[in-house]
Amino acid sequence: MSSFPLIFDGHNDTLMDHFEPNRKHERSFFERSDKGHIDLPRAKAGGLGGGFFAIFIPNPPKKRKAQSTPKVGESSDYLLPLPPMLEHEYAVTYATRMVGCLRELERQSNGQLKVVQNADDIQNCLNNDVMAAILHFEGAEAIDADLHNLHAYYAVGLRSIGPVWSRPTIFANGVPFGFPHSPDTGDGLTDAGKRLVKECNQLGIMIDLSHMNEKGFWDVAATSTKPLVATHSNAHALAPSTRNLTDKQLDAVKESGGMVGLNYHIGFLRADGRSDQQTTVDELVRHAGYIADRIGVEHLGLGSDFDGATMPQDMKDAAGLPLLMAALQAGGFDQSDLRKIAHENWLRVLRKTWN
Ligand SMILES: [Zn+2]
Repeated sequence: MSSFPLIFDGHNDTLMDHFEPNRKHERSFFERSDKGHIDLPRAKAGGLGGGFFAIFIPNPPKKRKAQSTPKVGESSDYLLPLPPMLEHEYAVTYATRMVGCLRELERQSNGQLKVVQNADDIQNCLNNDVMAAILHFEGAEAIDADLHNLHAYYAVGLRSIGPVWSRPTIFANGVPFGFPHSPDTGDGLTDAGKRLVKECNQLGIMIDLSHMNEKGFWDVAATSTKPLVATHSNAHALAPSTRNLTDKQLDAVKESGGMVGLNYHIGFLRADGRSDQQTTVDELVRHAGYIADRIGVEHLGLGSDFDGATMPQDMKDAAGLPLLMAALQAGGFDQSDLRKIAHENWLRVLRKTWN
């Protein structure tokens, strides 16, 4: 067990890694594995107290050829096309099954994992060594234009939603993966998207900006009454990926009282944009320092992208998190800063967002 404050994390794809039929590693959430990045033993070893568990809907099997993320070692200049919009019925079936998978995991955990629905739940989990899981939709494909499903999913625990992954929905466009490239890549929220944001504000569902393009970001900023949050994105000034935030966007996050969760994916960290496997956690410290200097440590958190991205070679997985915390400390963040980054900022922002 690490001596650093417990980490609450902005993004993982652990549900996909465990339960996506075409991708699933042969591993159990309750046994330590060397596959993937998160299981309960490695989370405990690294001081990972919980986070946003994303439900991401892959392209249907027959259409899966369309490449959606750059491969390791791919040349540093690219702009990938957006995959086509998903069929709503397929998305509903898929998302509902995954919600069930998370609830089954909670039940099988015998109290070691809890699907949290308010900020007190998270605090209680952190105090009692229970893993706190926020049900998050990475892309709103399972939500209908009239938003009836939004209420249904809220009732089973949905507390965070990205209107888009990097793919169009009826709500917005999504940012394609590109480097070096501006995040200003097309139209933002549709009218349905604006209704979605308002309804989420009402219900207490957080809006995640991480896969929005720049117009979408500003549309949410103009529509939402809540703090602006990008759960797993970095600084565009240091690594000009479309998935990272420009200085203007960072300033808007600060002004709204929101926050940014640092993404550990090596391709979103390096100045040259390469998915170079020699990359270390020092790149993360560089982004953390930049964001904290620009908008304040109160607006900085972690958003690993565990189980969905390529980690720095020295950290490897959730058990390696103390290495990151030690590097942040060596980089000038004191104990109080580390507590904010690790979980206090997330708790503050979620308390405000969830009513
Ligand atoms: Zn993502």
